[in-house]
Amino acid sequence: MAYVNENYLKLPGSYLFAEIARRVAAYKEAHPEADIIRLGIGDVTLPLPQASIKAMQKAVEEMGKKETFRGYGPEQGYDFLIDAIIEHNYTSRGLKVEHDEIFVSDGSKSDTGNIQEIFAEDNVVAITDPVYPVYLDTNVMAGRTGKLKDDGHFDGVVYLASNAENNFSPTIPSEHIDMLYLCCPNNPTGTTLSREALTKWVAYAKEHDTVILFDAAYAAYITEPDVPRSIYEIEGARDVAIEFRSFSKTAGFTGTRCGYTVIPKTVTAKTKDGKRQPLNPLWSRRHSTKYNGTAYIVQRGAEAIYTPEGQKEIKEHIAYYMENARIIREGLTKAGLTVYGGVNAPYIWLKTPNNMKSWDFFDKLLKEVSIVGTPGAGFGPCGEGYFRLTAFGDRNDTERAVERIKTKFSV
Ligand code: PLP
Repeated sequence: MAYVNENYLKLPGSYLFAEIARRVAAYKEAHPEADIIRLGIGDVTLPLPQASIKAMQKAVEEMGKKETFRGYGPEQGYDFLIDAIIEHNYTSRGLKVEHDEIFVSDGSKSDTGNIQEIFAEDNVVAITDPVYPVYLDTNVMAGRTGKLKDDGHFDGVVYLASNAENNFSPTIPSEHIDMLYLCCPNNPTGTTLSREALTKWVAYAKEHDTVILFDAAYAAYITEPDVPRSIYEIEGARDVAIEFRSFSKTAGFTGTRCGYTVIPKTVTAKTKDGKRQPLNPLWSRRHSTKYNGTAYIVQRGAEAIYTPEGQKEIKEHIAYYMENARIIREGLTKAGLTVYGGVNAPYIWLKTPNNMKSWDFFDKLLKEVSIVGTPGAGFGPCGEGYFRLTAFGDRNDTERAVERIKTKFSV
């Protein structure tokens, strides 16, 4: 008799985007003439940089010749990409990261989801709320939580409320936590944690023997000089933090798939008999056992974003999205709405007018101005009363959407 992993049964269905699609389809059927503008997606819309395309075309040619063909590559990633990552993202900012501390992967969703495997099942997990749902769901699957309660929280998880009242910078909890997920810049709020806040978290982690799992998937969108691009800018973080980075939003690799995880050899956790165990060799073992390397062609494409041509292109793309963010942020503010984010991230997080429930605001926006966004409640109980718009859309659509909202909702 095979038994199922009943932890999966604790998870509610993948409700958010399915429900959005259902409501949009129903509206479209009732109003076939509606000119719907979608500002709900968290996916890029600009094509890959030409520098990456050229590098991948060359790599395809190499794969077609016996002399240059490559089969299985190193599981951790090719040297050429690891060297480029270290030089451009760490050495250039005065940060030390060693070659065998980088693990190239097929993206941060897999890495942030899989990392929990190297931790004990009875560790206490903390997540900020609202946040990217993968951290919580993968810990539920692994049995590190109790059941879902009526208030939308899972038993046994420490939720760190992140809202306008605390300026989206959660306070340090009184209960002990073992694994702390931080997402900075944050999806969905588009807000960041200050250097001071991160310094406090690193100090907390050192004092309480906590490992910080720092998701910096949107680091490339940070515009303010004082916001750390990497957790390793904080002194002591090399002892307590693992960092996740992705080429998805940085360079349009959402469909091409490439990311990496940094695990300094100095980050350790305890064994039950009290010994200190570095996490790097555990992840190395896991990665080489369960992952067979990111495609050579893709790694060449990723490497090319670090060339002068690639850097110029990705900066232009990010600037395009961030101009959309500015248009949304300023337009909505002019309309009298309260908005957050959109300065160091491509997400605008708005307070629903009159404390409307986020799904009610979703319906109102869809029915009254044919705009699709994402209800904040879909990212955690503290997202209730908020709404996410993304800056990844087309410029013209973004401008039209803002005009519609201004016309309809101006107070
Ligand atoms: N981390 C955050 C915070 C995200 O918002 C996303 C994607 O939306 C990811 C990770 C996943 O990135 P990737 O495409 O590298 O899997």
